[in-house]
Amino acid sequence: MTDTPVTDRPPVALVTGGSRGIGAAVAIGLAEAGCDVIINYRSSSEDAEKVAQSVRERGREATTIAADVSDETAVIAMFREIRSRFGRLDVAVLNSGITADGHFATMSARKWDSVIATNLTGTFLTARETTKLMFSTGGAIVMISSTSGVAGRAGQGNYAASKGGIISMAKSLAAEVAGRGIRVNVVAPGFIETDMVRAVPKAMRESARNAIPLQRFGTAAEVAQAVVFLGMPTSSYITGKVLTVDGGMIAA
Ligand code: NDP
Repeated sequence: MTDTPVTDRPPVALVTGGSRGIGAAVAIGLAEAGCDVIINYRSSSEDAEKVAQSVRERGREATTIAADVSDETAVIAMFREIRSRFGRLDVAVLNSGITADGHFATMSARKWDSVIATNLTGTFLTARETTKLMFSTGGAIVMISSTSGVAGRAGQGNYAASKGGIISMAKSLAAEVAGRGIRVNVVAPGFIETDMVRAVPKAMRESARNAIPLQRFGTAAEVAQAVVFLGMPTSSYITGKVLTVDGGMIAA
C-alpha cells in the first residue's frame, strides 16, 4: 500500500488548530501541494474562515469545523462530518496545542491537566479517529510536538510532558499501523513567530534567541514546509520519525 490515493480526486487533509499560527501555514502549504483542506479550530471562527479563503484562492476546497480536540464527543462528531462529506482522509496534521507555563513546585493540578488534555489527549483522540478513517486507504499523520518534548525546558513541565508523550505515542502508532499503509511522523518546532511565542516575556525571548545557532526564530511557513514533506508521498519511506525545525537549537 502507498499513501498516494488511488482516485482522481485531490487528497483530503485535516489540520487541527488550523485557524492561526503554524496550523494556518500548514493548511495553506497543503493546499499549494494540491490538497483539499479541512480546518479545525476551537473558537476563532473568523480566523479559520480567512484560512479557508486562502485555501480556496489556491484553487482547492476548504471546510472549517469547530471542535475542542480534548472533548471526545466533539472529536467523534467532527470525524463523522469528515466521513460523510469527504468519505476519506489522506493527510492529518494534529497540531492544536496550548501552553500554561509555570514553576513545577507551584504548578496546580488544574494547569497540568489543561495542557495534557489539549495537547496529549487531544492528539490521541484525533489520531485514533484518523486511524479508523485511514484504515482501508492508508495515509499520513503528522503530529506537532516541540523541542521541549525532546529536550525538556524549565518552566514547561506540563507542556514538555505532553509533547514528549506525543513522540512516544507517534512511534507506537507508527509501528502499529504501518501494515495498513499509514505513516506517522512528528515535527518538533523550536521557537516560531506565532501568537504562542509572542506571549512569552520579551527578556525570555531575547535570551532564547541568543541560544539559537541560526540567531533567529523560525516562521510558521518554515515549519509548514517540513510538515507538508512528511504529509505527502515525497516522504513515502519515512515513518515513526521526529524532525526538529529549530534553527539548530537542540542537538537532536
Ligand atoms: P497558536 O496559539 O498560534 O495557535 C493554536 C491553534 O490551536 C489555534 O488554531 C487554536 O484554535 C488551536 N487550539 C488550541 N486549543 C485547541 C483545542 N482544545 N481544540 C482545537 N483547537 C485548539 O499556536 P502555534 O501555531 O504557535 O502552535 C501550533 C502547535 O505548534 C502547537 O501544538 C504548539 O504547541 C506547537 N509548537 C509551537 C511552537 C512555537 O514556537 N510557536 C514551538 C513548538 C511547538 P483557536 O484559534 O480557535 O484558539
